[in-house]
Amino acid sequence: MKPRTGVDRSITQKWRPATQAIRGGTWRSDFGETSEALFLTSGFSYESADEVAARFRGEAEGFTYSRQTNPTVSMFEERMALLEGAEVARATGTGMAAMATALLCQLRAGDHVVAARALFGSCRWLVDTLLPQYGIETTIVDGRDNEAWAKARKPNTKVFFLETPANPTLDIVDLRAVSDLAHEIGAKVVVDNVFATPVLQKPMELGADIVCYSATKHIDGQGRVLGGVILCDKKFDDEHLYAYFRHTGQIMSAFNAWVLLKGLETLDMRVRRMCENAAKVADFLAGRVPTLLYPGRRDFPQHALAMQQMAAGGTILSFHLESERQAFDLLNALELIDISNNIGDSRSLATHPATTTHKAVAPEIQRELGITPGMIRLSVGLEDPQDVIEDLDRALKILTL
Ligand SMILES: *Cc1c(COP(=O)(O)O)cnc(C)c1O
Repeated sequence: MKPRTGVDRSITQKWRPATQAIRGGTWRSDFGETSEALFLTSGFSYESADEVAARFRGEAEGFTYSRQTNPTVSMFEERMALLEGAEVARATGTGMAAMATALLCQLRAGDHVVAARALFGSCRWLVDTLLPQYGIETTIVDGRDNEAWAKARKPNTKVFFLETPANPTLDIVDLRAVSDLAHEIGAKVVVDNVFATPVLQKPMELGADIVCYSATKHIDGQGRVLGGVILCDKKFDDEHLYAYFRHTGQIMSAFNAWVLLKGLETLDMRVRRMCENAAKVADFLAGRVPTLLYPGRRDFPQHALAMQQMAAGGTILSFHLESERQAFDLLNALELIDISNNIGDSRSLATHPATTTHKAVAPEIQRELGITPGMIRLSVGLEDPQDVIEDLDRALKILTL
């Protein structure tokens, strides 16, 4: 595995993100391949018994087993670490594996977690159901309310867990203020940064300790594979993450890492174009639907904070129609936009959160979160935005007939 071209951080850290996303982390084998190689191997063989013993002692560099590290997965991890500005990245099989691992690796029975109420449905399940099963106490707060975070703190609070913008309400959490509140009591801040992507928002620069992604979303961005990433500093990896990650078998498959490396090469370009398209679609919808939520528009309640934290308004918008029937009729009338519960894809995708992504969230909690029966979430893709607008226009006209 030499020469290495993209792993000397004294060089790669100076590159700008679009360059890091293409070249960061690249290791070339002796063949000098241009594209990253796919090392579809579970294990490794060694020149001598002494060599393998040294690797197991941690005294020699090299791979031992693909449950710990794999060359293709390592390339993806290094590229993600560079993009995020983190010391360490660990790639997991899915986004939920990343979220669950980031929490469980550091929590013990008797600890307390404060979490924002607006979280991805499965993340809410972790907080509401799984953590309490292990004797970990949880408090849910309105993530937009800094005072609520402050008040929820207890002597045993170990983690603040949040998502910003949140799915599907696009609630924004003040990363700097909330991180400061956590650090005052020595708690760690875990951020699900899926909606913003590393292109638009760097939670660690605002104080977050651990950042997690579902790579299934914008990082792949073409609807092919599942994946996740946990980013943190070396100390957290040494003390909490690595042992849990390796012994519970969380690692991403080499094949998926290879697909995701290709996804990263175009991430910057795709996300920026999707944001431009989303802004155009939002401007069209603003006059046509009763309530529109898009962080990039001035009429979004937390627009100023969103623009402080994010480089653009994002690729996702939500709007409320009057009823579930209206929402279903609109979805069923679409010709171009797919009905799908995914986001961050090159195809524009529309979903009805109340009956899909947030189905597991109790109706009263849905109401509290602002997920109405008439709500639709739209992830704007890379098609010509005019075609997306015309599709919505036609479907909305059918509703008002
Ligand atoms: C999709 C998603 C997840 C879970 O990721 P998977 O790859 O589906 O496991 C977590 N958080 C957010 C915000 C998501 O959109």
